[in-house]
Amino acid sequence: MIDLFKYTKELSNLFSSAGNILIISHINPDGDAIGSQLALYHFLVSGGKKVSMITPNYLQEFLKWMEGSDQINVYIKDRKKCRLLISEADLIIMVDFNQSNRLGEAEEYVLKSKASKVIIDHHLDPSDFADLVISDPSKCSTAELVYVLIRELNGSPFGGKTFAECIYVGIVTDTGNFEHGAYSPETFRITADLIETGIRKEQILNLVYNNFSAARMRLLGFALNKRMIVLPESKTAYIWLSKADLNDYNHAKGDTEGFVNLPLSIKGIHFSALFIEKDGFIKISFRSKGNFPTNEFAAKYFGGGGHQNASGGEYSDTLENTIDFFLKALKENVWRFEADI
Ligand code: 5GP
Ligand code: MN
Repeated sequence: MIDLFKYTKELSNLFSSAGNILIISHINPDGDAIGSQLALYHFLVSGGKKVSMITPNYLQEFLKWMEGSDQINVYIKDRKKCRLLISEADLIIMVDFNQSNRLGEAEEYVLKSKASKVIIDHHLDPSDFADLVISDPSKCSTAELVYVLIRELNGSPFGGKTFAECIYVGIVTDTGNFEHGAYSPETFRITADLIETGIRKEQILNLVYNNFSAARMRLLGFALNKRMIVLPESKTAYIWLSKADLNDYNHAKGDTEGFVNLPLSIKGIHFSALFIEKDGFIKISFRSKGNFPTNEFAAKYFGGGGHQNASGGEYSDTLENTIDFFLKALKENVWRFEADI
């Protein structure tokens, strides 16, 4: 738990002195990144502020229905405009990440900007590239943190269905609809407040979860059927997909989102990994049940990080060598989750 008052005083000063505010979410933004970004946007705009938004590389289809999402500039689609927005900003707020490389190509421009910089995030071990770091890993989502910060700033819960829907998307997506992550009784109290504003909760769950293409469902079937290796003695299962596999199924960006969670539904499996072949490197996602700190594993072997039960990293080698390396790393660590039930 953090001392909200300490931060809201500073935030309030920064908000009132800023003429041009820029809110940035992380590369490959998820529902929490975009939900938090848009919630802050709606709050600040309602207070008469001039606000712009950037996301580094793309906006997922399943989030494009969100009000205000058409105002988010994608850095790699409009570099010139985004560089201008960065250079004109006097306050840059970064949401849902705490390492500057999550800014993608925008990193260099954000770091050299003279603007005051704020991080609002819930990941562990923030690195120090902002003037104000508001980091609370006890929150299930950055959206929950944004909600309580704004409630404190505003003196009462900030109203409005549009704002509430953005927070709801962040909470729901980062907890897998209240299945995992650091959700607490307070998360449910906040969610109750959100529902009371009249949010379209069933439609939102449909837009977020039941919005896949047929090709993605077929790719999922293939991945589970032909590309999932189960190692019951190590309580581990992993899935790998090559570039050729992805091409065979007309892969669109975001299609493999969520695949890594599925092996954890297998009885006795406590650790799951997903290896996706990219150009010149392998992107890896990790998930665990119980106490195994996948973020430490990702950091130690794959230059990555994240949360205890959900993290990711990269490895610059072939799929085969990456999986070999993973299996060796697994052997060194398997004792750590053997005691988990
Ligand atoms: P996902 O597996 O959904 O891509 O990511 C799960 C979590 O791990 C996210 O919270 C994300 O921030 C973190 N993560 C994923 N990939 C990386 C990475 O390469 N580096 C770091 N530091 N964190 C990552
Ligand atoms: Mn998050």
